[in-house]
Amino acid sequence: METQLENVLADVQRRNPGETEFHQAVREVFDSLGPVLRKHPQYVDAAVLERMCEPERQIIFRVPWVDDAGQVRINRGFRVEFSSVLGPYKGGLRFHPSVYLGIVKFLGFEQVFKNSLTGMPLGGGKGGSDFDPRGRTDGEVMRFCQSFMTELHRHLGEHTDVPAGDTGVGGREIGYLFGQYKRITNRYESGVLTGKGLTWGGSLVRTEATGYGTVFFAQHMLATRGLELDGRRVIVSGSGNVAVHAIAKAQQLGARVVAFSDSSGYVVDERGVDLELLRQIKELERGRVSDYAERRASARFSTEGSVWQVPAEVALPCATQNEITVEAARSLVSNGVLAVAEGANMPTTPQAVAVLQGAGILFGPGKAANAGGVATSALEMQQNATRDSWTFEYTEERLAVTMADIHDRCVTTAEEYEAPGNYVLGANIAGFTKVADAMIALGVV
Ligand code: GLU
Repeated sequence: METQLENVLADVQRRNPGETEFHQAVREVFDSLGPVLRKHPQYVDAAVLERMCEPERQIIFRVPWVDDAGQVRINRGFRVEFSSVLGPYKGGLRFHPSVYLGIVKFLGFEQVFKNSLTGMPLGGGKGGSDFDPRGRTDGEVMRFCQSFMTELHRHLGEHTDVPAGDTGVGGREIGYLFGQYKRITNRYESGVLTGKGLTWGGSLVRTEATGYGTVFFAQHMLATRGLELDGRRVIVSGSGNVAVHAIAKAQQLGARVVAFSDSSGYVVDERGVDLELLRQIKELERGRVSDYAERRASARFSTEGSVWQVPAEVALPCATQNEITVEAARSLVSNGVLAVAEGANMPTTPQAVAVLQGAGILFGPGKAANAGGVATSALEMQQNATRDSWTFEYTEERLAVTMADIHDRCVTTAEEYEAPGNYVLGANIAGFTKVADAMIALGVV
């Protein structure tokens, strides 16, 4: 079976040259699948692996727009519709200069298994652009979003493909995208995008959901060893939507969050993060984390080393892919970390995961730990479909139950495959088998 997996991986590398993040994401899942294929040879016979690695559809398009100086700008837009076996393609849009097909495919591939793990009827996809929103005015962002949607709209629909946000795409961008979709189609189709504002079809808790869910997952992992989050030192990377809400929930549950970061460096605040100040700077002023340190006496900003050198018992990577390297993982281990839960997608390199798992640390992979975001998108779709809107308490309870279910699914699957406590294996196998079974049931399509 291992040879079979190696052959399919070699094929993926050959057919998708240079897309290193995609290759990494496929290898990471394949590394867990040997025992499943031995137990279920029908997956091999039905070429499930080959089918899963080839997206159903890949759309690449030009996005022309005009900046404030009147200059015409061109960006590249992407939507990779990976799998619609379990439901409509579902997954976010990322606007960041690093975006290219390999990043979109890695994210789309991850999304298929993550969405499967939520237990909701969601297929997987991802999209985005190499557009850099940093430093752009609202008007420029609006014109970019309008142009992006002018092309993308023909591929969307509440039963077809339902994007949401990811890095660089928040409530403002979803608003401009939805406005343009509505204008072009002349349809108020709320269920075509998630992460909408509360006055125009959004769901309470969607903004908070990824960060909250990651903390719930960390709590469940700790509980398997009889440990609590209350009173623990926590470090978080990033300072965007996921990070801010992970900090908020960790604090609510009694933890002391002492560090966070952005791409320019990190802040250590031994008194515990002043969330209001952080949100003021990041959400209202769209500033940098160094501004936080300038305004708070107990905080210092550093560009030396990384946030992972700050001693903590719980680490929540909520920034971007491959941010925890082997060196960072070793620092975490030597500082006595108990649990790492990934709020971002694939923030830990495979070698770093091996270091953490080798040291017996609880490690929750993103496709399980950060699935609360997309799970709450599914709740937003439910509310849109029934023209209803639920309370914060009810929606948060649904999120909490979903995270508990995902955690249990990982634990029981890992036990079934004789790897107790291995959340990577549990998440990959549980996510994979549901998609594989459905794929076979639907025939060769
Ligand atoms: N971008 C988020 C993720 O990585 C959310 C996707 C969604 O809500 O569709 O899961």
